[in-house]
Amino acid sequence: MDRPEPFRDLAWDPDRAREFADRAVDLWQEFLTKLPGLPVGRLLPSDQVRDAVAIPVPDAPMADDELFAYLRSVVFDWSMYPGHPGFMAYVSGPGTVPGAAADLLAAGLNQNVGGWVLSPAATEIELALTRFFAEDMFGLPPGSGGIITSGGSMANFVGLKAARDHKAGWNVRTDGVMGGPRLAMYMSEETHLVSERAADMLGVGTEQLRKIPVDDRFRIRMDLLREAIAADRAAGMRPFAVVGSAGTVATGAVDPMNELADLCAEEDLWFHVDGAYGGPAVLAPDLRPLFAGIERADSIAFDPHKWLYTPHSGGCVLVRNMAHLAESFEGDASYVHQDKEYTQRGLDIGRHGPQFSRSFWALKVWVSLLAHGREAYARRISHDAELARYLAARADAHPAFELISPAVLSICCFRYVPRDLRAGVDPAVRATYLDELNERLVADVQLDGRVFPSNATLNGTHAIRVCIVNFRTEADQMDLLLEVAEELGRRADAELRPQDLR
Ligand SMILES: *Cc1c(COP(=O)(O)O)cnc(C)c1O
Repeated sequence: MDRPEPFRDLAWDPDRAREFADRAVDLWQEFLTKLPGLPVGRLLPSDQVRDAVAIPVPDAPMADDELFAYLRSVVFDWSMYPGHPGFMAYVSGPGTVPGAAADLLAAGLNQNVGGWVLSPAATEIELALTRFFAEDMFGLPPGSGGIITSGGSMANFVGLKAARDHKAGWNVRTDGVMGGPRLAMYMSEETHLVSERAADMLGVGTEQLRKIPVDDRFRIRMDLLREAIAADRAAGMRPFAVVGSAGTVATGAVDPMNELADLCAEEDLWFHVDGAYGGPAVLAPDLRPLFAGIERADSIAFDPHKWLYTPHSGGCVLVRNMAHLAESFEGDASYVHQDKEYTQRGLDIGRHGPQFSRSFWALKVWVSLLAHGREAYARRISHDAELARYLAARADAHPAFELISPAVLSICCFRYVPRDLRAGVDPAVRATYLDELNERLVADVQLDGRVFPSNATLNGTHAIRVCIVNFRTEADQMDLLLEVAEELGRRADAELRPQDLR
């Protein structure tokens, strides 16, 4: 056959790469410059967003000017800004600046961090990073370690898969969950729903997931947990794991880690900790005591993309014994077989988790820690919690607000209560109206664009929820939130209040 001619349209040379990347970096710089003045949220009707961004894929290359005009409008017209100083919603970090730059480099280098041979430095960096998290940050023993995952959902899933495979008592990987008694796992009612999803994905079934009630501080009731385990054993089931929350998503509650570790040791259960939100707070000396006993966990899930502020996405699962991940995920694939004594290659992370091809997620986290240093992280995390306490104190003292849950970690929940509605009305009617009013108020504040809280329902009460995992947020934004919430609360109240409450 004829010798194929080169086809180079996709093989851009370094100058072209530079020219293209420069435009992206210019846009990023413009974004960072304008960010504080942009509306953090606004009304973005989905059909308008779709019409604007879902453009047809062209047959021929789009001109740079046109392409970057398009990207500019994606950035400035059709996005919302979790890195804005006024963003204090859900648990979503702002994205570190060095992390974003590192992500460009990681993509440019394009390592496949599933196999050591495809990612020598990247694999060793990921292992060093997870060792730092396991040993230095959480105090797990030598031999512990972990992997970076897409996020907290996968991190919890991987930890709980190791739990299932290690504690079931038969080979679930080969025989399936039907190979023995029904498995049961435990968590509190406040535990994030991804553990429920993990029970589903692991074949345990959500009916075999016991949601244990919480105490008045939203922590798991140890007495009820013990009873549930005993009842399941009596019924012939096989309890295998307890999920402890290190920072619940609604209120920041931390379950009693030492008590859970004691119970799991007595009952021979796997102790998994969901620290997706709260985990990084162990870096802050003033918050660390809340987590005493976390170093006794068999596995810990946490999210650098939350309270380590790094860009999405990147979660992390740590295990007390790295061998448990290999046991849970190792498989035979002849084409990756290598004589490692000869090649001196290291560990393949693709054999220690659910993914084969993996990106260099670790770099943005690693570079953020290197560029900022541990000390700044410790102080900023502590500062976030201080801001939540400041907000709680101000809301508590404010005549228009009622504190719904005290500040724990960096979360605070409160609600707007019109001053003249305080007393003298039917409590049930009043409660229903306040729920409606506060639900509407959260939406109004989010659409207003100055600050961006989210919502929570605590013991049936609708609240405005603030969660600060944002290094650009300061006391000014706490003050502004109360100002905006009072202003928009008054407006919504005037519109919504039923006749019988007037
Ligand atoms: C966010 C969160 C999760 C889920 O993690 P993702 O990174 O969103 O997948 C799980 N548990 C808790 C406590 C969380 O805050």
